[in-house]
Amino acid sequence: MAIRPNSIEARDVAHVLHPYTNAVAHEKSGPVMIAGGDGIYVIDSEGNRYIEGLAGLFCASLGFSEKRLVDAATRQMSTLPFYHSFSGKSHETAVELATRLIELAPVPMSKVFFVNSGSEANDTAVKLIWYYHNAIGKPEKKKIISRLRAYHGVTVASASLTGLPYNHRDFDLPIDRVLHTDCPLHYRYAEKDESEDAFATRCAASLEQLIQKEGPETIAAFFAEPLMASGGCIVPPPTYYEKIQAVLKKYDILLVADEVICGFARTGNMFGCESFGIKPDMISMAKQLSAAYQPIAALMINDKIYDGIRIESEKIGTFGHGFTYGAHPVATAVALETLNIYRDRDILGHVRSVMADFQSGLHAFADHPLVGNVRGMGLIGALELVKDKATRESFDMAWGVAGHVGERALAHGLITRALGDTVNFCPPLIITKAEIADMFARAKVALDETHAWLQAGRPS
Ligand code: PMP
Repeated sequence: MAIRPNSIEARDVAHVLHPYTNAVAHEKSGPVMIAGGDGIYVIDSEGNRYIEGLAGLFCASLGFSEKRLVDAATRQMSTLPFYHSFSGKSHETAVELATRLIELAPVPMSKVFFVNSGSEANDTAVKLIWYYHNAIGKPEKKKIISRLRAYHGVTVASASLTGLPYNHRDFDLPIDRVLHTDCPLHYRYAEKDESEDAFATRCAASLEQLIQKEGPETIAAFFAEPLMASGGCIVPPPTYYEKIQAVLKKYDILLVADEVICGFARTGNMFGCESFGIKPDMISMAKQLSAAYQPIAALMINDKIYDGIRIESEKIGTFGHGFTYGAHPVATAVALETLNIYRDRDILGHVRSVMADFQSGLHAFADHPLVGNVRGMGLIGALELVKDKATRESFDMAWGVAGHVGERALAHGLITRALGDTVNFCPPLIITKAEIADMFARAKVALDETHAWLQAGRPS
């Protein structure tokens, strides 16, 4: 559809630079203008309703019309609209939120540092890894290992941890000190007839080889998102983390768990760490922390890391890190109310009561001619599309097949997200069984239409 001159769409094209968008294609297509929300639906400026099958960006856990969060923000705005936490200042909702997070933590944690985004939380973790090793007199122990296909953010350090080519290419990343090891996706990277356990053993051995090659005394930390969501919903084999953690322990390497997406019930436990038996030294979290109603993220650190900060404080004084809007009172008030809602409505119990329907609806696509692999856990999942189910050959990326499924889904009132070859689902946690069935019915039409489009020779 042509963009009308002087329309809001035309002004968007003229003035807004969109993240994760092809700029030239956007000049032609213009934006989809979202105007409102209602439960798990969002509504565009023409009144069309869409099931938000990705909870926005894996974040709007309570949907788009939660009055209690609006009230919490309003109350806070009218009492203390802003204050910071530099130089020992504090305010009530920051303290209450930190207390609750420490209580909820999947392993004993010591302190919470508030920031504004997942990237900032991971950047803070990187800086603390370096700071800690300086504090304990191991300044050579600075390299950090993450995994291919990982997503940890887009700031300079967190984008370096991210293991996706388009986050590195042309940005002159990754920085040195950041290394990448294998991606634990059995479907793609296992050898023929290799069991999940044997594959996990090979991933751990490959990590150990990398550590040996670089010199164990130089390796400071390992970053892991329990289930790798943005890489295409990669669920590691059951024994993977046990084997990886044994290697980390052997070489005295810190572990950071990135719970930015997994945190707060997404995988069927409060934290992804619980679903996979991960025992981290630091945990980054964001997104569902505030149900996405306010930008807020946090990094939790254990006593060991905090001791490093104490040592440095005694030597050099002030801890020189912090963001103006870290622990913003409106954001902490909204996040605290989000945790209250999770507790009052037993959101974890709700997730557990609907996740079998979600996973069986997702796995029903295994028979679809375009679907090579179905993977998921809790209320998150993805379909990997393939050209040939037997050989697992992928489609030519230039065909944009997963993107086409996304376009057809949009036409049928469903928002999903194409990530590489995968079509991803991560609905608001409040979704009901009937809404799950409706979401997958719409997705099925989109897949069938894409199949027909491919069979007809991909007309544009
Ligand atoms: N870590 C993970 C696992 C993420 O999925 C994301 C964002 N999708 C980030 C970090 C970065 O968060 P943000 O976009 O808030 O910077």
